[in-house]
Amino acid sequence: MGIGDRFGLQGPYQLRAFEQALTQGVEITPVWNKSNREHNIVHTFPEDVRKEADAATATSKWKREYFVDADHINNSNVEKFIGASDFFTLDVADFIGKEAPAKDIETFLSSFKKYEGNLSVPGIARPFEISEKTLHEIAGKFLVAIREAGAIFKTIESKKGKDSFVAEVSMDEVSMPQTPIELFFIMGALSMEKVNFCTIAPKFTGRFNKGVDYVGDIKAFAREFEEDILVIDFAIQEFKLNRALKLSVHSGSDKFSIYPEMARIIRKHDRGIHLKTAGTTWLEEVTGLAMAGGEALGIAKGIYSRAYERREDLCAPYASVIDIHPDNLPRPEAVSGWSSEKFANSLRHIPGHPDFNADLRQLIHVGYKVAAEYGEVYLNAVKSNADLVGKQVYENLFERHIRRIFMQ
Ligand SMILES: [Zn+2]
Repeated sequence: MGIGDRFGLQGPYQLRAFEQALTQGVEITPVWNKSNREHNIVHTFPEDVRKEADAATATSKWKREYFVDADHINNSNVEKFIGASDFFTLDVADFIGKEAPAKDIETFLSSFKKYEGNLSVPGIARPFEISEKTLHEIAGKFLVAIREAGAIFKTIESKKGKDSFVAEVSMDEVSMPQTPIELFFIMGALSMEKVNFCTIAPKFTGRFNKGVDYVGDIKAFAREFEEDILVIDFAIQEFKLNRALKLSVHSGSDKFSIYPEMARIIRKHDRGIHLKTAGTTWLEEVTGLAMAGGEALGIAKGIYSRAYERREDLCAPYASVIDIHPDNLPRPEAVSGWSSEKFANSLRHIPGHPDFNADLRQLIHVGYKVAAEYGEVYLNAVKSNADLVGKQVYENLFERHIRRIFMQ
């Protein structure tokens, strides 16, 4: 399970959620993830995440595996992650749709020619119809991205050594979902590129906005999710892939309406998944500050009001993963009069709570840049209220995420 921690103070509280799951027999490997974009905005380095993960696991006497994920990296920024990370999310979304050289397409077509016709995948009732045109289209869309994944993988492998890291291939930050059958051939081509990937993150049907619920057709998602899992099983056999290969869901956190479907399907097929949450742990920090009242509540309100003034700037880099309706955002003048409870209840994601405001929540989510600008003032407020803040972090991760997906 991927967890983010923008400001690096919540590791022990996050880990407590995994310990709690373990006492109930559910084994989940924590993966601390942070992208290059986050590092740049918060002014941190991959080594900081490594230090946090090592310290949290040492203090808590966590004896099991854990990882530090270089999240959404590419060949232009992977270098600085090499030393500190042992999990790499290779983001090749930008290369989807680029034109591949004709000879690469020929190789692809001849390699997969044997799947032309009616392709049956065990567990999926209807066979897929595969024509040369289908293969041609898949090659046209994905081949350059797959080759890029190969290039990044080789860079990492040459520096870290064979089998010394976990690789994920991600194509989720695009608008068009990949179909299960596209996923099948993508995995086949990745194996030809000698990418030893352990998880794969496609773009699923629907919107996965940051920190709020899924928007889309839940039944269509469930069907696609189940077919992806079955296609992965089939691909493991066909292409001799890593037996531990898992589907990865870059959830953006808080996809409560699809969690029950995911829980049902992984249980039905006895499969694991990699669930990547976004940096919503930082929203728990703001909730905790609001609850603390006084100066801390003032900081929470200050973050909101500055984020409100600069919303266009802050939202721009996240346009594809947020949907904020400005009309639903309360005016900072109104928020300045709010009580601790009113602020915390507006931000905390309890669907159906009369105060919950998904627009405010998304705005604060992208507003971590503002908190970073508060610098020590922000960090000290979080540290001064460590127990209260940590309780929010723990409860959110355990009660609202882990319990709903892995303990059903
Ligand atoms: Zn992602």
